[in-house]
Amino acid sequence: MALVVQKYGGSSIGSPERIRRVAERVVATRAAGHDVVVVASAMGDTTDELLDMANRVSRGPGPARELDMLLTSGERISNALLAIALTDLGHPACSLSGPQAGVFTTPEHGHARIVDVLPTRVRQELDRGQVVLVAGFQGLCKDTDDVTTLGRGGSDTTAVALAGALHADVCEIYTDVDGVCTADPRVVPTARLLDRVSYAQMLELAAHGAKVLMPRSVEYARRQDVTIHVRSSFTDRPGTLVTTQEPEMEKPAVTAIAHDRSVALVSVTGVPDEDPARSARVFRVLADAGVEVDMPVHKSSRGRVDLSFAVARGAASTAVGALHAAAEEIGFAAVTSDHHVGTVSVVGAGLCADVTATVCETFAALPARIRLLTTSELRISVLCGEGELDRAVRALHEVFELSAGRVGEVATVYAGTGRGW
Ligand code: ADP
Ligand code: ASP
Ligand code: MG
Repeated sequence: MALVVQKYGGSSIGSPERIRRVAERVVATRAAGHDVVVVASAMGDTTDELLDMANRVSRGPGPARELDMLLTSGERISNALLAIALTDLGHPACSLSGPQAGVFTTPEHGHARIVDVLPTRVRQELDRGQVVLVAGFQGLCKDTDDVTTLGRGGSDTTAVALAGALHADVCEIYTDVDGVCTADPRVVPTARLLDRVSYAQMLELAAHGAKVLMPRSVEYARRQDVTIHVRSSFTDRPGTLVTTQEPEMEKPAVTAIAHDRSVALVSVTGVPDEDPARSARVFRVLADAGVEVDMPVHKSSRGRVDLSFAVARGAASTAVGALHAAAEEIGFAAVTSDHHVGTVSVVGAGLCADVTATVCETFAALPARIRLLTTSELRISVLCGEGELDRAVRALHEVFELSAGRVGEVATVYAGTGRGW
């Protein structure tokens, strides 16, 4: 008998019918003799709809604490409904909120991090023969005694954290595509399903836009040695195992292409070069404001430094505001931000100059302008105009011959709106 943690994403439980189907899948796992802990997201686009509603009753985003109280209700609804469906199918089930399940976090509303998981209650309910359903994406901060959320896509991290704390045999992430693919199948219809991917490469993909897994869930899984199995809740296809992998072969190999529309390009120009502390100050100001910087470029010529970097689009105004507040001490000429950009990333192993050259040639042939470029052994990322992103993803997927060879290997999108966040 194994202990299986199963996480179901919003589109997998988007309607009462889908909830019944998921309940049947859980029953089948129980019937195979396994203990099951289920982590469900909110139904369909509930989280976005709750955010829309908050915006309609207020002129600003609203107090962060109240937003967390609001958003955590979405997961409570879906988990309780699943428990009701399971009970109706003859299986005792018990739904728990994140705090009841022992998920403890840091205090930051909207982006709290899990600090501890004490699943005593989950174990008690399992021992009573129940299927345990845990509301994903939420926890409790012991210091403030307030409910928190883990950030968008956070149910993946709840599931992995519970799997780690319970020493589960596997953490199954059920979603609306067949598994992890060589690109987002919504953009590249011939994207191929990967049967295995290493934690390191999955982390690169997830951190650069492949939202099939929340990046923090992959980090957590690697640290706790949790095997993730990404699968479709709509079929019985085998899906993708995310785990440690055999050492890679020596030749460079591109695994997949990720893209991210949720970035902005920030440029700080004319920083006086005679005092290097001034350009260092730019990055300190951003770090203190909690803004993560990606793909930084530092260009020095004729006594001045120009800096460009990518930030999450939602953080661009914070970045610009923080820099303006420090304008005098930094002494820059101008700060600009461009929201009409995106990044495309080629992820693989042993990526070398030849792969970088191929990426640049592919952009030249489109033609599309490369605004920023960064390279490492695992990833080559290009920041370009948002309008050029889909064409660039398809062209790179083609150039690196990632498409499915046989019809059966093509990944299918089963549901969901693909509504971005
Ligand atoms: P869930 O609601 O199940 O959590 P998400 O919408 O968060 O699902 O993630 C699944 C989506 O991730 C897919 O519908 C797909 O459009 C997108 N996606 C992006 N890149 C990839 C990729 N490389 N492989 C699979 N799916 C991807
Ligand atoms: N419901 C939350 C979201 O939409 C958490 C999740 O789905 O994982 O981001
Ligand atoms: Mg998700």
